[in-house]
Amino acid sequence: MNRVKIHDKYFDIYITKEAIEERIKVLGAGLSARFRDKKVVAIGVLNGAFIFMADLIRHCNFDLDVRFIKAKSYEGMHSTGKVEIDQPGHLDLTDEHVILVEDIIDTGLTMQYVVQKILASNPSSLTVITLLQKPAALKHKVQIDEVGFSIPPAFVVGYGLDYDDLGRNLPGIYQLSSNQNPEQ
Ligand code: 5GP
Repeated sequence: MNRVKIHDKYFDIYITKEAIEERIKVLGAGLSARFRDKKVVAIGVLNGAFIFMADLIRHCNFDLDVRFIKAKSYEGMHSTGKVEIDQPGHLDLTDEHVILVEDIIDTGLTMQYVVQKILASNPSSLTVITLLQKPAALKHKVQIDEVGFSIPPAFVVGYGLDYDDLGRNLPGIYQLSSNQNPEQ
């Protein structure tokens, strides 16, 4: 599928399922080399990161405790400018090695907020990994250690990312089409 319609908008394929798989293998191998013999807590940021997390952890060859927190900063295609997060009451991370797994870093607002919360619970290390980053949209200074793909600041869906709750189940990543003509 090269072109999909979600709600009222057309999206074109941007990163194929195969390209994502290949990149995740490399990211997992890098983490495995770094954390060999260590125990790590991986924290996925819901909702968007659930598929990336599921695929990434199967390439992580070390002891892994998998957790999730929920954050929301987007309505439709736009950032609301404020982050809502489920209070991470279960996040006692004292002396843990933590890998924070995000789907996409856009302005950096969400990640800055989540990183602050995690650092407040005194982990022994924090590694931030995101599948996608839009470097041109970054406004908030934030720690980013590993990026799957750097992309331009256009809206994307698929592979866990939604447009108003739909599109998360697409196996590849699709970008908002510059041509919204249904006759294309
Ligand atoms: P930030 O806080 O960095 O501005 O935005 C991060 C969050 O906004 C992501 O976790 C994701 O929920 C949402 N977001 C940012 N850009 C996109 C995009 O292109 N597509 C989708 N579906 N969500 C996005």
